[in-house]
Amino acid sequence: MSQSKRALILKSAQDHGVLALTSYCNANCLFCSNKQNPPGIQTVSICPQKLDEIDETLEYLAPRGKIIIGESATRICEGEPFSHPEIMEILKKTRMHFPETPIQVTTNGSFLDVKTVKALKELEPLEVYLSLNSSNAEKRRNVMDDDRAEVAVQSPFVLQNFKVPYHGSLVAVPEICGFEDINQTIRLLEKCGAQTVRIFLPGYTRWSGKSKPVNKVNHSELISSLNSANPAFEIPVSVEPPYVSDLLPVTTGVIKGSPADIAGMKKGDLLHRVSGVKPWSRSDAFSLCTQKEDPKVEIVRDNEKKRLFLQKKKHQNPGFVMDNDIEKERVHKAVERAKSCKAKKVLIFTSTLAKAFIKKAVEDIGGSDIEFDLKGIKSEYWGGNIEAAGLLMVCDFEKAAEEFFRGGGRTELVMIPGEPFDYAGFDMLGRNYKEIEEKIQSKVVVV
Ligand code: SF4
Repeated sequence: MSQSKRALILKSAQDHGVLALTSYCNANCLFCSNKQNPPGIQTVSICPQKLDEIDETLEYLAPRGKIIIGESATRICEGEPFSHPEIMEILKKTRMHFPETPIQVTTNGSFLDVKTVKALKELEPLEVYLSLNSSNAEKRRNVMDDDRAEVAVQSPFVLQNFKVPYHGSLVAVPEICGFEDINQTIRLLEKCGAQTVRIFLPGYTRWSGKSKPVNKVNHSELISSLNSANPAFEIPVSVEPPYVSDLLPVTTGVIKGSPADIAGMKKGDLLHRVSGVKPWSRSDAFSLCTQKEDPKVEIVRDNEKKRLFLQKKKHQNPGFVMDNDIEKERVHKAVERAKSCKAKKVLIFTSTLAKAFIKKAVEDIGGSDIEFDLKGIKSEYWGGNIEAAGLLMVCDFEKAAEEFFRGGGRTELVMIPGEPFDYAGFDMLGRNYKEIEEKIQSKVVVV
């Protein structure tokens, strides 16, 4: 393995708690982003890691926090961890090295048979993120090309039997599975004790072909199908991307048996105060409740205030689910950055997804005489339905800035989000954000 790949694996462990194992996957999903990358995109594929390489990576993980397996946090393409021939040996090694650190494994479930799940139970604290996609083996085969679909659709039952905590997810492809199947899959996960369900809208790009079924998913149709479930789902169901437009800390669901559930919290509750502090956003409300031991929470439900007492340890998940927005701290930092640059007029580029709540955040933070102008931009490089900040490119910012200036816009400082860039400021095409500065002749900062 090349030095640069090894360095990235170690950096991923050190900075994000990710134990990267392999880029290989047994499935071949219609929506797999690993296969939609055009030439020039600097993603990294890794072979199944050898045990001595795993030993080295373990040294870079921190005992505090969580160890994450099967999720990508850097340019490494993550494959299916249980396709690694030595996965159980690796998990045991990890547990021996970190006897108490929670392990989170994301898997497509193809290998979660009784023997494997029984072994996972021995490795507590460990939770599974199961990408089930469909509870119907034939439909799962159709979207994932998975020849072990029968094992996967049984895995919720097996996880429940062995009391392994898990969360389910599915990528919505109603063109193939139908909306009914999405609701049935959620229902099965609910019945089999999953803690939450996440539904992802599949991403497609201008590179992924025009007629694919993933290109035809309609967000509002999906929401209305979920809302039509009768009886309504008890399990927290979140849709990603969430399309939030405000900062109101309202719960989208509550995990059964969690501190929030025991305290009486419900879906739709607005968190008004957490131990006397008024949360500024969803992200702040969640983080406040997570950090505190036994927080006292004042909620608003049906226009009435109620006081709830969550019995939980410091840093324990409170058990309610909320969509992500933005932390006050990040907006504060942006304002401080503008002040330190002595800028009175600032242009902020955001993703189109985040524009509405960032606008609200900038208005709410106040306390400065800086004039902020906000522009939501879509990734023209990727095209399709890609709206996330993480996939914006240097070329997208350059184009948007040029249009802004051509239209008579003026600014003393341009702020861009940090999500698209690696630790050295490079985007996925290997271009540095500093190139924007050179091109538009205006100071650019990453916030
Ligand atoms: S299971 Fe995940 S990594 Fe494997 S093909 Fe599907 S989307 Fe890609």
